[in-house]
Amino acid sequence: MAKIAFIGLGHMGGGMAPNLAKAGHEIHAFDLSEEALARAVEQGCKRAGSTAEAVSDADVVVTMLPAAQHVLGVYRDQVFGKAPKSALLIDCSTIDVASARTVEEEASAQGYTMVDAPVSGGIAAAASGNLAFMVGGSDEAFERAKPFIEPMAKAVIHAGGAGAGQAAKICNNMILGATMIVTCEAFAMAQKLGLDPAVFHEIASKASGQSWSMSVYTPIPGVGPDTPADHDYDGGFAAALMLKDLKLAMDAAQTAGAYTPLGSEAEQLYQRFVNLGGGSKDFSGIIKMLDDSWKAPENT
Ligand code: NAD
Repeated sequence: MAKIAFIGLGHMGGGMAPNLAKAGHEIHAFDLSEEALARAVEQGCKRAGSTAEAVSDADVVVTMLPAAQHVLGVYRDQVFGKAPKSALLIDCSTIDVASARTVEEEASAQGYTMVDAPVSGGIAAAASGNLAFMVGGSDEAFERAKPFIEPMAKAVIHAGGAGAGQAAKICNNMILGATMIVTCEAFAMAQKLGLDPAVFHEIASKASGQSWSMSVYTPIPGVGPDTPADHDYDGGFAAALMLKDLKLAMDAAQTAGAYTPLGSEAEQLYQRFVNLGGGSKDFSGIIKMLDDSWKAPENT
């Protein structure tokens, strides 16, 4: 069993790290938030006083941080030169392709093997070990990383070379952002047309309107499985993080010369929701901005 440094124990990392501990690994955990760190310790992880301490004799380093600046900062200041050169580095955060390639090049120049391994699935999937991982890196790096990712995963897919995991992730989340908005619009319109939301959900879940947003992450309370909608849109995947992903997707589309009108509209709508104060709400809470018949978020 391996010594794994796990950095970033928030909504996602806080569920993922205990699954590695349950698989028998020794987890040296660190987060800037004492509350997040204490929760991980309660679930079988060992407390480290800093990232540098956590990685100092690690076989594997896993990071689950908010955005590119955190990833670049943590690796440059606290991992490179502090972790043994034999350590395998796995970044699971969602960041832009260019930053992922930069940090992987810097890791490689220092003699480390690194993969980008962003995930799909919400906090429930993180806690239950059912995330989908999209991995970017060499064949050899992927084969090394796979057994350490598996206890957190329902699927581990090699997307291609360095940064390819991030490329797959932002394309996937562009679909998610756009489908969530149109699912919310459909629920709002269905209600105005006099349809029972539960009946409409049952129909659309079995018809061609089916999607993850419709069936698994249903954006209205009391219908479908338990989702953030049933908890006033608290927890889950913050709208501010969805906006971050859509901005990454639009930057990538511009760089690649891809025409993405729906992705662009989704970005603008999430920007509006965040400007209205919905940034910390789950991203499905955008229904409150799209439909005046549901109560607006308290902080809007
Ligand atoms: P989060 O904000 O809940 O957790 C991030 C954690 O990182 C926080 O606990 C924070 O204290 C910690 N942190 C920040 N800087 C740090 C540093 N320098 N050293 C140590 N710890 C530090 O975010 P999250 O929802 O867990 O998301 C993490 C990543 O996963 C993001 O990139 C997000 O886009 C991606 N993601 C999230 C979801 C979701 O449903 N929440 C789903 C898929 C992917």
